Amino acid sequence: QAKKAGGNGYAFYTDALTEDARSYALLENGLRRAVRTDELRLYYQPQIRLGSGELIGLEALIRWEHPELGFLLPGRFIQIAEESGIIAAIGEWALHSACAQARSWLDSGLEFGRVYVNVAHSQIHRGDLHRVTRRILDQTGLPAERLGLEITEGVAMERGTDSIIAELDRLKSDNVGLAIDDFGTGYSSLSRLKQLPVDQLKIDSSFVRDIGGGGRDLDIVRAIITLGHTLDLEVLAEGIETQEQHALLLAEDCRFGQGFLYARPMPPEALSGWLKDWLPAV
Ligand code: C2E
Ligand code: MG
Ligand code: MG
Ligand code: MG
Repeated sequence: QAKKAGGNGYAFYTDALTEDARSYALLENGLRRAVRTDELRLYYQPQIRLGSGELIGLEALIRWEHPELGFLLPGRFIQIAEESGIIAAIGEWALHSACAQARSWLDSGLEFGRVYVNVAHSQIHRGDLHRVTRRILDQTGLPAERLGLEITEGVAMERGTDSIIAELDRLKSDNVGLAIDDFGTGYSSLSRLKQLPVDQLKIDSSFVRDIGGGGRDLDIVRAIITLGHTLDLEVLAEGIETQEQHALLLAEDCRFGQGFLYARPMPPEALSGWLKDWLPAV
């Protein structure tokens, strides 16, 4: 009996693995096509000044309109894109698409501050991020001070890679904005942070979520805000969903925020409508 049960368990296990491998392969192959077949989209989420509600930036967030699986969020495919190397092409597509979109917003008089694009680990390690970014800015005609790049804390804190700092320095001297994403979830070294030419810390949404819960998260958020301001960095809180979170962050002197309370990520054509409803026309 035991042997039979074990046998069944094993069969079930391999079936599950095969199923996973099959859907992984399906997504991987699909991703190789997706850029060419125009299945990728960028949605844009507003970032605001907490004290006034003014729009100060937009984060470009990738989505995939898969022909069979439907609308996919990056959690389903970005890691696969990284592991298979397809992220280089996707990352370049995202950068180009966001810059072209931002250029057309500028042309239509829409004021959005900077558009921020998420940059994957391997895009920085290739060593050509500055060159690629420069070329795309030239091609699209977007001024560099209208673009920002978000790198995760893990990448920013890697040791022994002065080439990363050199690459970021080149971007910074062109006036491209640099933000550290998901701050607080990695291992930050303060000496490393001091060396990085970044402008902004983005407090990870996991700390914002329970900020009103009476636990330690409010203390952590307060510490990040103090650290950021001490280093002359902008501090932006991610994932703000409630008025209570908004009020607590504002009281702690966090100046910038982003979250469903203000706006969800939206397709580019929805942005001007949101802006009209957001702040009454003067
Ligand atoms: P992220 O850069 O930290 O982006 C923030 C995520 O939080 C987004 O998820 C956004 O939709 C979500 N979010 C915003 N406000 C709220 C809120 O109030 N509540 C909740 N629960 N969530 C909120 P999304 O769009 O699914 O993206 C997930 C991650 O995928 C991003 O995290 C980023 O790491 C990655 N990603 C997105 N687009 C790109 C891209 O073009 N390239 C690369 N390399 N990574 C990307
Ligand atoms: Mg981000
Ligand atoms: Mg983040
Ligand atoms: Mg995040």
